[in-house]
Order: sequence, then C-alpha cells, then structure tokens
Amino acid sequence: MGSFHLTKMSLRNLFKKPATKMYPVVAPTYTSRSKGHVTCDMKECILCNICEKRCPTHAIAVNKPDETWSIDNFSCIQCLSCVRACPKACLTMEPDYTKAAFTKSTVTLHKPELTPEEKAAKEAAEKEKAERIAKAKAAKAARDAAAAASE
Ligand code: SF4
Ligand code: SF4
Repeated sequence: MGSFHLTKMSLRNLFKKPATKMYPVVAPTYTSRSKGHVTCDMKECILCNICEKRCPTHAIAVNKPDETWSIDNFSCIQCLSCVRACPKACLTMEPDYTKAAFTKSTVTLHKPELTPEEKAAKEAAEKEKAERIAKAKAAKAARDAAAAASE
C-alpha cells in the first residue's frame, strides 16, 4: 500500500510543473504588495529628514547641505515607516529585491539640477513666502503696539 502511494506520487510529480524557479535565469514575478527596496523621487524630496528620524534601523541618512538622500538597503527591514511618514509622498517601496553582494553598500541619490524655469519659480515662491512672513510680522507688531497703547 505504501509503495503504491509512493509510485503514484512520483509519477504525478514527474508530469507536474516544478515548484521552484531557475532564479536568476528566470525572473521572479512580483505582486503589487511585494516588499523589495525603498527608493526616493529626488525631484519631490524636500530633505525634511522625517524619514531618517522614523527609520527604526537607521538605514536612511539625509544630508541637507549636500542635498543627498542615502539608504543602506542591507539594514532596511522593509517596515514601510518611512514611506508612510514622508510628507511629500516621494518614497516608494519598489517590488524588486536588493541584489546579493559581498559587501554592504549605501545607495546615495542627489537632488537634480533645477532648470532655469524651475529656479525662477522657486525664487519667486521663496520671495512670496518672505513677503508673507514680513507682512504677518508687521501686522503682529502693529497689534501689539495698539494693545500696549490702550493699556
Ligand atoms: S521624508 Fe520624504 S521629503 Fe522628507 S527627506 Fe525623507 S524622502 Fe525627503
Ligand atoms: S522601510 Fe523601514 S527600515 Fe526600511 S528604510 Fe524605511 S523606515 Fe527604515
């Protein structure tokens, strides 16, 4: 009875598709929720540092003066905290895995150079913000002065 069952199983397995794939010759298929590696859209990133603070394994490093965002993929535990915390939604979990390597390495991304139009738009936005702040400060000073005069 046992050998009959074994023969049946062996014959069935002979004609079945293999349960494993010849990776890396055959590329794996990823689902939309596969957790592979985190990447950053540097055009959108404002270097606010929130992702670095939220990362439980200190895998992310943001360098504001150099305008760079780095990740040590070998320390990342794919918890998605950084992706959820990013205020600009510029972090994404890509489905493909980090390739095996002999040494640990860090991926560093740089802010792209702005086009002349983008530079002009940024300067205009900064000027407008500075004007708004100055106006608000002047209004507050006027209110404080009026309050002090009425006392
Ligand atoms: S949280 Fe988002 S915007 Fe802020 S530094 Fe990280 S990637 Fe950039
Ligand atoms: S997914 Fe988690 S561990 Fe990986 S970089 Fe983001 S916060 Fe850090």
